[in-house]
Amino acid sequence: MTHQTTCCYCGVGCGIVVKQEQNGRLSLEGDTQHPSSKGMLCSKGMNLHYTVMDQSDRLLYPQMRLNRSMPMQRVSWEAALERTAAVFRTFIQKYGPDSVAFYVSGQCLTEEYYLVNKLIKGFIGSNNIDTNSRLCMSSAVVGYKLSLGEDSVPVCYDDIDEADLFFVEGANPAWCHPILWRRIEARKAANPNVKIICIDPRKTDTARSADLHLPLRPGTDIVLNNAIGRLLIERNYIDNEFITNHADGFLAYQEQVRQRSIEEAADICGVSVDAIRTAAEWIGRSKGFLSLWTMGLNQSVIGVNKNLSLINLHLITGRIGKPGNGPFSLTGQPNAMGGRETGGLANSLPAHRDVTNAAHRAEVEAFWNSPVKIAAKPGLTATEMVEALADDRLKAIWIINTNPLVSLPDVNAAEKALKKARFVVVQDVSNRADTVQFADVVLPAAAWLEKEGTMTNAERRITYLPKVLDAPGEALPDAEIIWRFAQKMGFGADFTYANASEVYEEYTRITAGTNVDVTGVSHALLRTKRTIQWPYPAQSEGSGIGETGTKRLFTDHRFYTPNQRAQIHAVPDENTSEPIDEDFPLVLTTGRIRDQWHTMTKTGRVAKLNQHSAQPVLQIHPEDARVRNIEEGQLVEVRGRRGHVRVKAQLTEDVRVGLCFLPMHWGKMPAGAPGISTLNRANNLTNSLVDPRSKEPDFKFSAVEVVAYRKP
Ligand code: SF4
Repeated sequence: MTHQTTCCYCGVGCGIVVKQEQNGRLSLEGDTQHPSSKGMLCSKGMNLHYTVMDQSDRLLYPQMRLNRSMPMQRVSWEAALERTAAVFRTFIQKYGPDSVAFYVSGQCLTEEYYLVNKLIKGFIGSNNIDTNSRLCMSSAVVGYKLSLGEDSVPVCYDDIDEADLFFVEGANPAWCHPILWRRIEARKAANPNVKIICIDPRKTDTARSADLHLPLRPGTDIVLNNAIGRLLIERNYIDNEFITNHADGFLAYQEQVRQRSIEEAADICGVSVDAIRTAAEWIGRSKGFLSLWTMGLNQSVIGVNKNLSLINLHLITGRIGKPGNGPFSLTGQPNAMGGRETGGLANSLPAHRDVTNAAHRAEVEAFWNSPVKIAAKPGLTATEMVEALADDRLKAIWIINTNPLVSLPDVNAAEKALKKARFVVVQDVSNRADTVQFADVVLPAAAWLEKEGTMTNAERRITYLPKVLDAPGEALPDAEIIWRFAQKMGFGADFTYANASEVYEEYTRITAGTNVDVTGVSHALLRTKRTIQWPYPAQSEGSGIGETGTKRLFTDHRFYTPNQRAQIHAVPDENTSEPIDEDFPLVLTTGRIRDQWHTMTKTGRVAKLNQHSAQPVLQIHPEDARVRNIEEGQLVEVRGRRGHVRVKAQLTEDVRVGLCFLPMHWGKMPAGAPGISTLNRANNLTNSLVDPRSKEPDFKFSAVEVVAYRKP
């Protein structure tokens, strides 16, 4: 038997064909029919089946305990959900609906996202639901909203085949979005005029392949983008027709970018004037200008403004809504986009509606037939949940398919907060999640291939994932866990579904008439067509939208803002990250390595993937190492204002002087790991500063010092 599905790692969303032999063995290969990946898979995707074949650490049945000093006891689903509902009801009655929260994941399927949102926003009456996508793409969401009017990625992967200038800023797709990168490499191989510019303080594999690498100082992206904007204006590479007819804000922008000379900008960024001039010239001369970015721009205390400064380059040159042109924020998770569509953030409602918009709330309340008013105030975001647990404003938290005790910033504070929480529910696939140890109730969830639903990848492409295997033990699909819980809470009439297809059908109806209209999509249609790019309203076929949806947005240059004009924003360029000083003179940046994904709860189980890098290492420049008497391979202590990490040092000129890098994947090492401390979480060192609008943390800039570690 063969089954077409999609990879559940990164936001590229590659198609996979899973083969199931009669003896139950699984194998897989790339799906040549999937338009996003055309049969290609990276090392992570090629080994994905091992994560479901190895059941050694699976959670198999519900467990609970009456207090944290007791061991977990196996219980029935009935008992686990009954108790959870009783505790939630008690807190809600005593302290109000904002005393409970859900923290979910960009790995959740669209149907699951939709149901949790409906439950807490429309029936419990709180907006306290946030997703770990808050940690990776919320700055791009706000950037798109402010500039284009809505959170809408305007481009598609086929634009790669039409672009001749790739501007990759704060991203390492060669490692983190490998199949997208292979498509860029193929484009470059086919056309020698194609150029790649990489903006990154580190010399990554992407930077090594680029025609021009600008290793800027961390936090200076806006200065650089504004300098490029200034040169594009001075050299008359702007599109006056587009600016006049389709954009606001150009004059203020022009004024802003003139405030720094190119020489001053080069000095601040730590790159050459020539490099900035070359970048601007290549952009100006190109026919297809595609910019790609991820965490280097998003995970910043000025992340929204970084996004705006890059989108501005497209707006002043009119390079948007045309083949091969546009700003393209890559998503790190397989269904970060689906979560955005269903309103999976603390400030949003389904189909890109806002909780602060009274008309939007009224539409959704009417659709859901809500017994409560949807709260007008945004709920707690990821880091705000930690603060609220710490000071007891938040009493109960339900964590679904995410591992915040590795992934949240200032993770020691998060750990203390979770210890203090009065009630913690952990719903997950395996006991690898570091959160399980702090749970009062543990709910076993079905894994990839064990449940059906949909995901949307970074190019707005929806793919159906069929159920291929039965979940082991008593594990249930996440959607079913949520609807069963809602029934226990007394909302049974509105949470009765036979399957995930019914949930999806309901979700599509709530999108009617919006810019993310998918009323023409259903599980049945996706099984036939394989994928569809939103929007795809009912009767799309033959309407000009295209058989498989909408490839590009804004082709008519009418944007989703109230006046249908794009907004160019003059943004300040100062970085407001935590200061470096004599005690903590180095900047630490964190990120991914090639063969691991997030907190390793899946990739860490695959022997082949662990071979690439068995332990985390600190990359530090040889000059910074020399003055600290640190040698290659030596155990070092990285000290910050909030904690420390002990890892081996790797001396490399791939990082700038003054910068060091740690991978973000590792949690608590298994006891007895050779020559290394049990604590090696990069997020021991990161801080809880967030962008004021997106609430995305400043993972890319923490002040640290590094010293050779000697046992006391
Ligand atoms: Fe999976 Fe991303 Fe690799 Fe594609 S590029 S196979 S989606 S991890």
